Amino acid sequence: MPNFKDLFEQYSWDEVKASIYAKTAVDVEVALNNPDRSLEDFKALISPAAAQYLEQMAQKSHELTLQRFGNTMQLFAPMYLSNECQNICTYCGFSLDNKIKRKTLNDIEIAREVQAIKKLGFDHVLLVTGEANQTVGVEYLEHAIRKIRPHFANVSMEVQPLDQADYERLIPSGLHAVLVYQETYHEADYKKHHPKGKKSNFQYRLDTPDRLGKAGIHKMGLGTLIGLEDWRVDSFFTALHLDYLERTYWQTKYSLSFPRLRPFSGGLEPKVAMNDRELVQLICAYRLFNQEVELSLSTRETHTFRNHVIKLGITTMSAGSKTNPGGYEVEPQSLEQFEISDERSPKQIMEMLQANGYEPVWKDWDVALEIKA
Ligand code: SF4
Repeated sequence: MPNFKDLFEQYSWDEVKASIYAKTAVDVEVALNNPDRSLEDFKALISPAAAQYLEQMAQKSHELTLQRFGNTMQLFAPMYLSNECQNICTYCGFSLDNKIKRKTLNDIEIAREVQAIKKLGFDHVLLVTGEANQTVGVEYLEHAIRKIRPHFANVSMEVQPLDQADYERLIPSGLHAVLVYQETYHEADYKKHHPKGKKSNFQYRLDTPDRLGKAGIHKMGLGTLIGLEDWRVDSFFTALHLDYLERTYWQTKYSLSFPRLRPFSGGLEPKVAMNDRELVQLICAYRLFNQEVELSLSTRETHTFRNHVIKLGITTMSAGSKTNPGGYEVEPQSLEQFEISDERSPKQIMEMLQANGYEPVWKDWDVALEIKA
């Protein structure tokens, strides 16, 4: 069976980095004019040389997004089920070594949160937990999905990586999509940021999208955490991963996110800063490279930035997010995973989208419309 690892091992981080930084204005122009852009073109589009072509990139990205997705924006809300976690991750408020009150929602609390999220208008929810297999293992997740699914058109999940058999068990319960971010493709740095717990296994995480593909998931989300390592190199490996997955598991849909490190209780300073112009460059580069992929932007980003980028390639946004378990209704004061930046309500986001000529879509596309062999 195919495996991304085999492809990944053919690349060296340092060589990829050198090749991105060596791209010239001519390479960027070739990439802009090539309708079927290769990974080499993608490198040119994320290179420092492409900074002066931002306007052209934005225009093309806008056109391509409009052609494929129309004037629509999917909205979803994260629902944190638990902040218990057995891992140490240097950038996360839920890290095992962070002395906070731990909380896992029970059935009654889940029902209250569901009602609160429904009241805000959402029909698509993203379930989030830390990694604590004793309390929020597959049993808990399956139970929670079965409770939540009847209330929402779509249920996605962002939890610890699981075995293929576990995904095969959860998908029939109503699980539509799984988001699993590699955090960084730099193996040595990955180990520094994940010193303890199951998450420290770089290889197991890298293999997760393959296990999801083999399990037949409808959609998966990829990405890295921007700030841990050089974002240009990490983004190249994300594009390589996406390209491989699309060829291998072509019945699955894909989405990409580009979270920038946010402050949290006891937090880590980003090693590499990415400014707003660079994030726009990356969003446009992903769109020029791949016209089908959904591009998702969370409330980590500011009000102003989110207003500006909706027309440049983004197809999915969270709104009114709470990043703590019970944050909507049950326990609004519990500790957040990270601070959010855009604090507008879902209604305000909806109005902003409409004022820009966009139609908010409160759920993911109907599962019934997706063709499975
Ligand atoms: S990032 Fe995930 S695994 Fe790491 S500490 Fe936070 S919740 Fe746990």
